[in-house]
Amino acid sequence: PEPGSVILSVDQVRKQFGGLVAINDMKFEVHAAEIIGLIGPNGAGKSTMFNLITGVLPVSSGEIRFAGGRIDGLDARRIVQRGVGRTFQHVHLIPHLSVLENVAMGAHLRGTAGPIAAALRFDREEEARLLHLAAEQVRRVGLGEVMHTPAGNLALGQQRILEIARALCTDPVLLLLDEPAAGLRLQEKNALAELLRALQREGMAVLLVEHDMDFVMGLADRLVVMEFGRKIAEGLPADIQRDEAVLAAYLGG
Ligand code: ADP
Ligand code: MG
Repeated sequence: PEPGSVILSVDQVRKQFGGLVAINDMKFEVHAAEIIGLIGPNGAGKSTMFNLITGVLPVSSGEIRFAGGRIDGLDARRIVQRGVGRTFQHVHLIPHLSVLENVAMGAHLRGTAGPIAAALRFDREEEARLLHLAAEQVRRVGLGEVMHTPAGNLALGQQRILEIARALCTDPVLLLLDEPAAGLRLQEKNALAELLRALQREGMAVLLVEHDMDFVMGLADRLVVMEFGRKIAEGLPADIQRDEAVLAAYLGG
């Protein structure tokens, strides 16, 4: 996509769980090669918004468009194939398998199929192809030196980076990250921020949910703030920090 063009647009999206309106009238855009922080107090609807964009949950109404086409109503696998990659709030890796194997497995799963189905469909040719692709992504994120180390031996910061490598195997142009900095040491956060900026320079857009304000304020080009399922503010980090509605939401929440 052209730098600066809209790649994701969330338009009047609503999500109801029975009588609970979790997302109401949500509207925002993400541009190519832009890093956007989605923030807000607990229960604001951030994870639900991610689940709607990635097709894990259906929208109740509204439209989500990605790279020009509607993706609301598509299943999660198709959305990944269109170019939306994601990581999860909690680390999903198999500790005794190597970094490379974990990344290759994710490349195969592409978000939806279960591990057993994946195991059954692995043939040698497919395996070789996946390992090659995975090795490329492992090097791209700077984990080349620990490629053959069991994933469980890595520090949390490197495990999060491993998960990004896995998401990169599906060749995304938009990466959705749910709390990537949670629990990381300062040095690990800096390494993560550096990686995300490097991906941005390659043209990747990143939408991240993050509670660590220093991290997200320092990294994001723009912030979208949610409270009670609605967007309450949107803008540059420096302006959001001084926004009265945002301050009230955090003090009240
Ligand atoms: P956040 O990620 O901002 O903390 P969530 O998106 O997890 O917020 O939750 C928003 C609201 O939707 C909360 O009130 C939560 O309890 C509710 N919610 C989230 N997922 C479900 C679900 N699958 N079923 C029912 N309610 C849900
Ligand atoms: Mg959440």
